[in-house]
Amino acid sequence: NRRIVLASRPVGAPTSDNFRLETLAKPEPKQGEVLLRTIYLSLDPYMRGRMSDAKSYAEPVALGEVMIGGTVCQVEVSNHPDFAVGEWVLAYNVGWQSYAVSGAEGLLKLGANPSHPSYALGVMGMPGFTAYMGLLDIGAPKAGETIVVAAATGPVGATVGQIGKLKGARVVGIAGGADKCRHAVEVLGFDACIDHKSADFAAELAAACPDGIDVYFENVGGAVFDTVIPLLNTSARIPVCGLISQYNATELPAGPDRLSLLMGLILTKRIKVQGFIIFDDYGHRYGEFEQDMSQWLAEGKIQYREQIEQGLENAPEQLIGLLEGKNFGKLVIQVNQP
Ligand code: NDP
Repeated sequence: NRRIVLASRPVGAPTSDNFRLETLAKPEPKQGEVLLRTIYLSLDPYMRGRMSDAKSYAEPVALGEVMIGGTVCQVEVSNHPDFAVGEWVLAYNVGWQSYAVSGAEGLLKLGANPSHPSYALGVMGMPGFTAYMGLLDIGAPKAGETIVVAAATGPVGATVGQIGKLKGARVVGIAGGADKCRHAVEVLGFDACIDHKSADFAAELAAACPDGIDVYFENVGGAVFDTVIPLLNTSARIPVCGLISQYNATELPAGPDRLSLLMGLILTKRIKVQGFIIFDDYGHRYGEFEQDMSQWLAEGKIQYREQIEQGLENAPEQLIGLLEGKNFGKLVIQVNQP
């Protein structure tokens, strides 16, 4: 059994020294337990938060403990009456390791032969659910309104934009680089997508939003949010989903402090700004999402791009890259072959 543990806490961007690969004996399941073989490990931005011991909505990973993460596994040995050998499950108690023993609790059954098992980590799982609830419940877009979303080709942003189009909105993405922007327009069907690394980013975003912005789905914060602010319409909604541009920050942005200007704008334009943590706030509504998203996928109305990288040992480097925008699509590590 191979596993990756948190060796030290990062200051700023994580480095490979913050992780340690360990090799142990394969664990043996007791009565009422199963041995899980990890096929896919999801890498997600929230993992940066769990590496830090700053106070947050969730406990940090302890030093020396296995890194946390969602996995799609197959049952290799079953000592539990409800699980058959070969069956697929979604697990949140396995993390960055090639095998793990688990009780039945916390395992979500995916069936004997799912057509796309890794989708449970992306478009049919946590990121897709995040996009669906944040956009529809907090953003509440109406037909003809303008939605802006950054990290537009990632699993959250791509899903936000495509649901926005299904609801009749104009959708403008923001992404890093020409390839990602082209994908957003040509494959995902966004009306426009602007490169936040472009020298003319602010002017290009303004030109792509001639009627202003009604829903800004906040995934990144920082300079992108600064550019969005002047374009916000009266009664705009901002679901605050993530602030990835700040996850590696060690200090507040340089002054002057613009908080009072922002609060003034929120007041005069009656802007709704609401954060959410997907399973804490919306866990009870997973069924609605599952039903709609399965149907949209079956009808070909939602496109989904994954970046599948081979080998558990490459997970640290891939997570470091995710926080710098190096991934293109939902980042998944293939840990074992099915
Ligand atoms: P992505 O796969 O989209 O990966 C992150 C992307 O963020 C990168 O590819 C990059 O895209 C962009 N990015 C990284 N650094 C910067 C930067 N400095 N400035 C601008 N963009 C940057 O991630 P997800 O779709 O999984 O997650 C998107 C957001 O949603 C994250 O903030 C995450 O924390 C949040 N989230 C929140 C949840 C909640 O419950 N509130 C649940 C799930 C996710 P590009 O190259 O295009 O800029």
